[in-house]
Amino acid sequence: MSRRRIDIVGAGLCGSLLGIMLARRGYAVTIRELRADPRRAKVAAGRSINLALSARGIRGLKHAGIYHRVAPLLMPMRGRLIHGLDGSRELLPYGQRDYEYINSVSRAELNRLLIETAEREHGVEFLFGHAATAYDCAAAVVTMASPEGSYTLEARGLISADGAGSVIRRAYDTGGCIGPGEELLPHSYKELTIPPRRGGGFEMENDALHIWPRGDFMLIALPNPPGDFTLTLFMPNEGETSFASLDSRDKVGEFFQAYFPDVIPLIPDVVDMYQRNPVGLLGTIRCRHWHDGSRFLLIGDAAHAVVPFHGQGMNLAFEDCVVLDNILERGETDWARIFERVEREQRANANAIADMALENYVEMRDTVRDPKFALRKALSFELERRLPDRFIPRYSMVMFHDEIPYAVAQSRGRIQAELLEQLTRDADRLQDVDLDAAAMLAREKLPPL
Ligand SMILES: Cc1cc2nc3c(=O)[nH]c(=O)nc-3n(C[C@H](O)[C@H](O)[C@H](O)COP(=O)(O)OP(=O)(O)OC[C@H]3O[C@@H](n4cnc5c(N)ncnc54)[C@H](O)[C@@H]3O)c2cc1C
Repeated sequence: MSRRRIDIVGAGLCGSLLGIMLARRGYAVTIRELRADPRRAKVAAGRSINLALSARGIRGLKHAGIYHRVAPLLMPMRGRLIHGLDGSRELLPYGQRDYEYINSVSRAELNRLLIETAEREHGVEFLFGHAATAYDCAAAVVTMASPEGSYTLEARGLISADGAGSVIRRAYDTGGCIGPGEELLPHSYKELTIPPRRGGGFEMENDALHIWPRGDFMLIALPNPPGDFTLTLFMPNEGETSFASLDSRDKVGEFFQAYFPDVIPLIPDVVDMYQRNPVGLLGTIRCRHWHDGSRFLLIGDAAHAVVPFHGQGMNLAFEDCVVLDNILERGETDWARIFERVEREQRANANAIADMALENYVEMRDTVRDPKFALRKALSFELERRLPDRFIPRYSMVMFHDEIPYAVAQSRGRIQAELLEQLTRDADRLQDVDLDAAAMLAREKLPPL
């Protein structure tokens, strides 16, 4: 009996993982990808990106039976290591249990591994250099460009995993049945690299996510297994201290001297690297619908790109794959119903993490410097110890509890934030808080999970 065919556009993280899941379900999968085969191409300088993989993403990889292959690529990060302007350093743990950490992983390495596994072990067909160039909404036809010329692809149960710039999503206007909205952040990012120490090893702690919070902008660093760190500078596009204002070598040098003096000895050519590497845009995408009947489903960033400050874009995309695969497992075969269910289960969650990711930007670049932040974190860990089935810090719900939907983390997080604000208003240290009264109040406000 011939296998049921399915087409995916985009061999990024989401498209390749979904390819593996669908092939395991018996589908003949063809994935068309704009870029050249990343296993043979080199990653462009300043576009390496490493990502924080957490519970939801790990669940997706385990669901596909490939986590054991990904695990060797991971670098655990147990907390935020905050670098103050005065040279101070403070580690703020992400969680309070041994297994509560997140993992740094190179996007390029992970993508290569997913493609390799999909192709070799599951017989998925990849067509590299095949780009969707247009989508005709009325005829439900995608125009593709390839080295052999252009051709068309009918959208019948098509999966659009072509990322934040999705050609298929952009073919719809804001009033159409997809109703896409793209909101650019007035801040962008630029990557830098701290090379390994001479003779090998890391220049800084390799089990933390380093942050240099500076109010309106910040630098972060994630470790990579070979000993280097990928740094990302997030900063406003315009204004007094911005990508636009750093328009000469001298200004870039003065900027690093003023705000990140401890980084300069670690990157000997920091000014050249800054000048060389491109600036990347950041934004949020929300759609009214993720599918047009049975024609196609938008998935991953194509449906819901989020800003990276909660480290959840890929994790959410992998969760989408699990949701879709679980619907297929229940025996549903009608694409319109399958797509509708994915949207129903995930859209509110995607909107919730989009909001929380925007909020986290302020927390990472600014609020972490407030002594009350550390106090509220300590109090939330204490409440979690006393009421583990009711009070779980919002960060932990998002990062470590894949069984709690993002929308639930968001709504409970709001109640918890008010509670923490109220309980620490007149306190400077945890000893100043009446912990029994605090636990009683938390019990009143929060139903069991
Ligand atoms: C700076 C930064 C840091 C981030 N940090 C994190 C993090 O810590 N944790 C986390 O979970 N997420 C993070 N993310 C988000 C994460 O990278 C994305 O959510 C994830 O890559 C989404 O996967 P995707 O497959 O949906 O999209 P993509 O990875 O963008 O893949 C889309 C694929 O489609 C291809 N494509 C595009 N257009 C076409 C076309 N017209 N025709 C054919 N193919 C096409 C692309 O070449 C690409 O291969 C970060 C993002 C950025 C920018």
